[in-house]
Amino acid sequence: MAEQKKLVSEITSMDEDFAKWYTDIVKKAEMADYSSVKGCIILRPYAQALWENIQSTLDRMFKETGHENVAMPIFIPESLLQKEKDHVEGFAPEVAWVTHGGSEKLEERLCVRPTSETLFCEHYAKVVRSWRDLPKLYNQWCSVVRWEKTTRPFLRSREFWWQEGHTVHATEAEAREETMRMLNVYATFCEEYLAIPVLKGRKTDKERFAGAVETYTIEAMMHDGKALQSGTSHYFGDGFARAFDMQYADKNNQLQYMHQTSWGASTRLIGAIIMTHGDNEGLVLPPKIAPTQLVVIPVAAHKPGVTDKASELYESIKKMGVRAKIDLSENSPGWKFAEYEMKGVPLRLEVGPRDIENGQCVLVRRDNREKTVVKFEELETVIPKLLEDLQQALFDKALKNREEHTYTAHSLEEMKQVAAEHTGFVKTMWCGGLACEEKVKEEAGMSSRCMPLAQENLGDTCPVCGKPAKHMIVWGVAY
Ligand SMILES: [Zn+2]
Repeated sequence: MAEQKKLVSEITSMDEDFAKWYTDIVKKAEMADYSSVKGCIILRPYAQALWENIQSTLDRMFKETGHENVAMPIFIPESLLQKEKDHVEGFAPEVAWVTHGGSEKLEERLCVRPTSETLFCEHYAKVVRSWRDLPKLYNQWCSVVRWEKTTRPFLRSREFWWQEGHTVHATEAEAREETMRMLNVYATFCEEYLAIPVLKGRKTDKERFAGAVETYTIEAMMHDGKALQSGTSHYFGDGFARAFDMQYADKNNQLQYMHQTSWGASTRLIGAIIMTHGDNEGLVLPPKIAPTQLVVIPVAAHKPGVTDKASELYESIKKMGVRAKIDLSENSPGWKFAEYEMKGVPLRLEVGPRDIENGQCVLVRRDNREKTVVKFEELETVIPKLLEDLQQALFDKALKNREEHTYTAHSLEEMKQVAAEHTGFVKTMWCGGLACEEKVKEEAGMSSRCMPLAQENLGDTCPVCGKPAKHMIVWGVAY
């Protein structure tokens, strides 16, 4: 127990300093390391395994909705980036440039992609000729570079990993439908796999993506009440199509501009998992996405038969389709318990000499540490049930946290008061004016998160200016 305490005490308590707690977890659970390039992180094997599970699930969902993967170049010529005015203005401050090839100065400098709309536009302008070529539903998995000033592992780094979907359609209706379809894919993924409840909504003009007509978002609430934008889906109209001359011949052989979307989710989701489910002992991973769902730990492993039985159980659990691991190292059971709690492994199976005599073992849940004594022959039914219960319990807990930290306000004074006393989502009505949005930011310290698709009527007027309200909106402090 002494070793266990020592290990645990190295994490800052989340109630004491949430930011410090977060960086402690990232380090102690061996998720990420800093590199010699400021603001760039190394995804260590455990985080990479988690990301690969996120990738494979999302990739399957993309393919089920008709998308194909492609790979685009990492470089964008400056002239290409500049074709769409709003887009270049939005990204210019955080673009990294390549100016030399070897020792030779390039005639035109190349931007390291911060996002790939322009490359997809150039490609679609070439390959789409007629209505028969549409829609084109492409996605790519890659990393992008944005020269951020302040960085934090997984939440904001200069290079990060993501997927970016880029699609073109014959009509506005189809493109809008695609925008919503992918928003829903993200929401379903977050709720069903990551056990993170999300608010689906539309961004204000101020917060929307550079060059988009409309940006939709899923907003999650972290344990500390702050918001994390966890995925976005953009409708572009034909703005890029006009800038990049993306035309196709319709059924009447008339040239028409294409309608476009893009959508992305990134390694930020790893940050979301940590900050939604983690506790003072470390990570807590949702079973559906955890690299290891169950770890077998022999107790009194030196006693005859214990290691053999533990190995036998491990083999049979793997055969059930559970992602299992066995720890036969020399470390003490107490050290191992703390280690896998830190790593957020959903279930721990303990088996010792007395258990073996009784034909049973002990299963311990990571989230609530509940112990269940299980007969060996019952493992096949009990393990899947416990994993399912744990997955649901994490979602329920996160939803409860969000509900308990969601407030309603009817005046700017009330908004300021709520913001001063709590961190969470604040629901209000809104006139739709930029001035009021900026005033809330300035005086209450909250940015608009989204205008939820599920609108509520909280009153008739904007709490800031008193003019007629157009939307219900949610405010918060964002990561
Ligand atoms: Zn207003």
